[in-house]
Amino acid sequence: MPMNKTTAVDIFIVGGGMIGSSLAAQIAPSGMHIALLENRAPAPYDPASTPDLRVSALSPASISFLEAAKAWPAIAAMRSAPFRRMQVWENQRDQSTLFDAAEVDVPCLGHIIENRLVQLACLEALQNHENVTVLCPDEISRINYHPEGSHISLASGQSFEAKLLIGADGANSQVRKAAGIALDSRQYPMHALVATVNIEGGERDITWQRFTPDGPQSLLPLPGDYASLVWYHRPSEVRRLLTLDDTALLDAFRQHFPKALPEITGLVHRGSFALTRSHATHYVRQGVALIGDAAHTIHPLAGQGVNLGFQDAAVLSNLLLKAWHDHKQIGALSHLSQYEQQRKLGNHLMQRAMDAFSYGFSNDIAPLRFARNLGLRLANHQGPLKREVIRYALGLGTSRQHLPAPLRKLIPQRTA
Ligand SMILES: Cc1cc2nc3c(=O)[nH]c(=O)nc-3n(C[C@H](O)[C@H](O)[C@H](O)COP(=O)(O)OP(=O)(O)OC[C@H]3O[C@@H](n4cnc5c(N)ncnc54)[C@H](O)[C@@H]3O)c2cc1C
Repeated sequence: MPMNKTTAVDIFIVGGGMIGSSLAAQIAPSGMHIALLENRAPAPYDPASTPDLRVSALSPASISFLEAAKAWPAIAAMRSAPFRRMQVWENQRDQSTLFDAAEVDVPCLGHIIENRLVQLACLEALQNHENVTVLCPDEISRINYHPEGSHISLASGQSFEAKLLIGADGANSQVRKAAGIALDSRQYPMHALVATVNIEGGERDITWQRFTPDGPQSLLPLPGDYASLVWYHRPSEVRRLLTLDDTALLDAFRQHFPKALPEITGLVHRGSFALTRSHATHYVRQGVALIGDAAHTIHPLAGQGVNLGFQDAAVLSNLLLKAWHDHKQIGALSHLSQYEQQRKLGNHLMQRAMDAFSYGFSNDIAPLRFARNLGLRLANHQGPLKREVIRYALGLGTSRQHLPAPLRKLIPQRTA
């Protein structure tokens, strides 16, 4: 039987989704030997195709990170839908608040982009780096975490020895399990029904979100005459809705979504997602680090999940580049624990803020209804406060001292 040679690398990243591939693209120019493993090859971009089901609202801070990783030009050359305004309302449109990019002097509040296109652009950015090996599609047959260097064997027969193992392998992270890192997790009593729909008329540079006692509903513009619709509801109701044929499901959308939206004329894709808040008890150990959904998942109602992942990648890449430059051991706990210190509390507070939103808006208890209506009205009128909240949500940094004390508690101090 032939003996397989083991390849030594500085960093082995498991998971070439949006976060793992963008992290690799950001550190690739250093010359470190990097292997990136992804078990599902993304389909190539076809401009004639309809938009995918899985999309994300990327903040300006995430877009800056993708620019630094040299992935943004490829995304811009494919497709994305910038939005300048965000309308949030509770049941009636007159109890709403409008967030506008002009209020914080930025060209847009974000872009809605198909997850696969972000991944494709990051993988493309890796092509010019001979020091990076992309293993896709391939999968782990065995993973042996060791603080001084992990051993990874792949189904293809290749094997690797890595000074640093990075888990960017999503919520069900194999790296997290291999490193013996525990997970706190809680299932929300709500599922998300997600659909790509055809739309006609209406404005296209705006996202809409309405809070109802059953859960939020949102419509996000996509390039062309498409939008991504998300309907949060009890798991049993989402299951029932998904048994409907296309005509009946479209009727349900038209009946239950606000009339003020563009007309929903067709259904392209549909699916559903269970929603879990989870947080790894540690992000790092000597020789291993977790980023993105491998470290934390969050209620998606405010579209923060992958944006937090890009912030993880930005902080971790800076620390790794510095350690490499200073000829330090790349898997040493000294710099890895700085990554955990800079990211874990902020991610935890964001999870709690999303829980507060989800609970505060998804019920019909009278005092909470009063408080959220008041909150939306205040948000509409308090110029400086509103500006600071928008800046924070966009990852543009905010002056926490300008916020009232209860909000300061919710908004973590930026350390990066
Ligand atoms: C309904 C819904 C809507 C959302 N909307 C938004 C939004 O608008 N904005 C936002 O910021 N976030 C949003 N999110 C969250 C966002 O989708 C996730 O935070 C994001 O996908 C996490 O990226 P990731 O790369 O960390 O993990 P993943 O996207 O899970 O990627 C992990 C990758 O690793 C690969 N992989 C896994 N295991 C292995 C293995 N053993 N070997 C090799 N490869 C492996 C997978 O194939 C995958 O490509 C939403 C989530 C949901 C459910």
